Amino acid sequence: AIWNLGSVNADLVYRLPHLPAPGETLAALSHQRGLGGKGANMSVAAVRAGGDVHHIGAVGEDGVWMRDRLEDYGVGVAHIRVVDAASGHAIIALDGSGENQIIIHPGANILVEMPVLEEVLSRASAGDIAVFQNETNVQRDFARAARDRGLRVCYAAAPFSVQAVRDVLDQIDILVMNAVEAAQLEAEMGLAVADIPVADVVITLGADGCRWLHQGRERHFDAPRVTPVDTTGAGDTFTGYLLAALDNKQDMARAISRAQMAGAVMVTRLGTADVIPTQDDIDQFFAS
Ligand code: ADP
Repeated sequence: AIWNLGSVNADLVYRLPHLPAPGETLAALSHQRGLGGKGANMSVAAVRAGGDVHHIGAVGEDGVWMRDRLEDYGVGVAHIRVVDAASGHAIIALDGSGENQIIIHPGANILVEMPVLEEVLSRASAGDIAVFQNETNVQRDFARAARDRGLRVCYAAAPFSVQAVRDVLDQIDILVMNAVEAAQLEAEMGLAVADIPVADVVITLGADGCRWLHQGRERHFDAPRVTPVDTTGAGDTFTGYLLAALDNKQDMARAISRAQMAGAVMVTRLGTADVIPTQDDIDQFFAS
């Protein structure tokens, strides 16, 4: 099984005639509410990949619809607590040219408590996978507790923060980053990716595919060629599929190939968690 300590965010999208200037009040042309957050995206992706996923996190009373939607999608939600705070949300302003402005409020996502995590992890089995991103609290404690129980621990280093990476580097088995995050790690930590002390390092490169570093060796994988429409959620989809394949005891090379196919289909679709492709979608896409 996959144990995902992850964010659950409402994406509140407002289309505007232009982005608001300081002091300006603007009426939106339209409004849409969707399920997002890197954690939720990864849980949905891992489930669509056929994984058995337990999401661990918190929402406020205003976010019960998100927990319900995750449950409808097949994610285990028994460990998403409802707390007395606003749910995590992103207020996304879009102008007509594709430019955006985003405000994120972590809210309930950073109110996870370690005793709860210990209790949850006591239900996991050695060999299961634990994953987390940088949108919740108690990341290091979670990684360490999962390691202690013999889980394989994956960190998706996004949104990137040097401090967050430093905190968990000695507690993880798999590190997944995109090219921008890998460059930040090299620049801000002075650590070449080849020297990262983590067993498996996977760096996604968008249309250029990805790199896998393992035991001093490096392998490059080309991405399938597609026409991108919206690249949001590609990385989360990639990671969810990767972990579901690994949990299914596939080797890393096969897991990466499948994850790349999932990421490629994802960029042909508009939206986030709600439109993450299923295994059938992927097979159909590449059969045609
Ligand atoms: P993020 O969304 O975190 O920035 P990337 O853009 O690197 O991550 O995308 C993650 C993965 O999704 C890539 O490794 C690739 O497999 C797939 N992908 C992303 N963009 C494209 C693209 N334009 N064409 C094909 N595959 C893509």
